[in-house]
Amino acid sequence: MPIRDALVDIVGVDRVSNDPAELFIYSRDSGAQPPGRADFVVLPKTAEEISAILRLANREKIPVTPVGAGLTLSGIVVPERGGIVLDMKRMDRILEVDELNRYVVIEAGVSQGALQAYLKKHHPRFQHSTPEAPPTATVTANALIHGHGHISPRYGINSDMIAGMEVVLPSGEIARIGACALKGKWFSRGPLPDLAGLFVGWYGTTGIVTRISLKLFPKPGFRQVIVFKTDDIDLLPEAIAEIMYLDMAEDFFLIMQEKPDWMNHAFLVVILSGHFEEELEFKKTAYKRLFSDFKGGECISFVSDLHPALEKRFLDVPPLAALAADFRKGGGFQYTGAILPVDQVPAAWRKGIEISHRYGMVCSYVHQVLMGNSIMFGFNYSFNRADEADIEKARMALEESNRATLDLGGMIWKGEKSAQKMVLAKMEPNTAALIRRVQEFLDPNRIMNPGKWEV
Ligand SMILES: Cc1cc2nc3c(=O)[nH]c(=O)nc-3n(C[C@H](O)[C@H](O)[C@H](O)COP(=O)(O)OP(=O)(O)OC[C@H]3O[C@@H](n4cnc5c(N)ncnc54)[C@H](O)[C@@H]3O)c2cc1C
Repeated sequence: MPIRDALVDIVGVDRVSNDPAELFIYSRDSGAQPPGRADFVVLPKTAEEISAILRLANREKIPVTPVGAGLTLSGIVVPERGGIVLDMKRMDRILEVDELNRYVVIEAGVSQGALQAYLKKHHPRFQHSTPEAPPTATVTANALIHGHGHISPRYGINSDMIAGMEVVLPSGEIARIGACALKGKWFSRGPLPDLAGLFVGWYGTTGIVTRISLKLFPKPGFRQVIVFKTDDIDLLPEAIAEIMYLDMAEDFFLIMQEKPDWMNHAFLVVILSGHFEEELEFKKTAYKRLFSDFKGGECISFVSDLHPALEKRFLDVPPLAALAADFRKGGGFQYTGAILPVDQVPAAWRKGIEISHRYGMVCSYVHQVLMGNSIMFGFNYSFNRADEADIEKARMALEESNRATLDLGGMIWKGEKSAQKMVLAKMEPNTAALIRRVQEFLDPNRIMNPGKWEV
């Protein structure tokens, strides 16, 4: 039977397409990476449908690439070898919110915006960790790529918040991970062997996650932003350590942009929150005096005249920090996320400016501090989508930033294909061999998002 007919048998005619206009969209993402080729787009609604699709794909040796909203921008949803793109967005049900046990179970296509709006309306005392990505980004893909959200500095990255999963293995078998595997509540993934690690960080090469449980966190009623500024980049690691040591920040990010001139400083933006006004007031006072005696005073200043428009932007959930980025004519934008130890911030900062200038760009930065031991250091580059030479420049700038990240002892987050190759080349050989063995074991026909994490 032709593949299209077999797919129509599984999901129905309305949820399969091989229309060239639609395949065009699904063969690329909106970053700077080259497009691939999709043969079919399928929008499944259930784990059972995905199971049938994967059995078919295995029989026919057809690649399968899952996509949430495709907003990682680094080409990791681009189908490199044709085949089926599985668009998860029709799996959009919020299945359970358990306030007492503090978790939410959702299907894999639920967007950040939908979950945020649902919690605000029905469970206003709780929140999930929301990334600054556009609201159409899926909650599940974000957790699966080790994303980070507006409460990550306090509670950890979003993959830490996974409390359970349902996964369709490449063979088509459906498995559950965590307490839900014992037919219990979806409240915890330990103390069983932690099988979540087989699917987190793998870019869909080991299975399709169909449901996920995420921890929920209290949502304090009062929030405030405190901003510090410095021109001494070498002070940043210690300044970050001091802010994290006080241990009261809900969110904490660094921004800088070379233009306009008033933005050309290192700004340390700290979001404080509290259940009571007095609690917030106490935290504010503690932070305001944090740097008054630091290195004799004066070198890190408290910004007392923050413009109300900026204050609102920073206090939004998620904060709109990246709006300051240099979007040039043509609207292209991609950033490479370096996960760095905080002591490497000054060196990375200088390197990013050097790379931006070499490629004729204005440098702009947004970095989120993660729990105090690391930072998501964003090397941002914009380009004109209609100008192939400009896109190529952005690719080269990204590649240089990735190389610098590894040279500084950091890790590349959601890396492009070339970045994945760099990481694997630097990796301890037995670790790389283990990755290959896990993939071969779970996916012997290598149908799952082929070309990604290819050892
Ligand atoms: C302006 C801007 C700001 C951003 N800010 C942040 C931020 O603050 N924090 C942050 O973490 N990210 C941020 N991002 C990056 C990115 O947009 C988010 O991480 C986003 O949540 C990714 O979700 P997605 O649905 O777009 O994933 P996709 O790009 O669709 O997928 C990511 C990967 O997961 C795989 N995948 C998707 N669904 C499944 C599934 N169900 N099972 C198995 N594999 C699957 C895909 O094949 C792909 O390899 C930002 C992006 C932009 C453009």
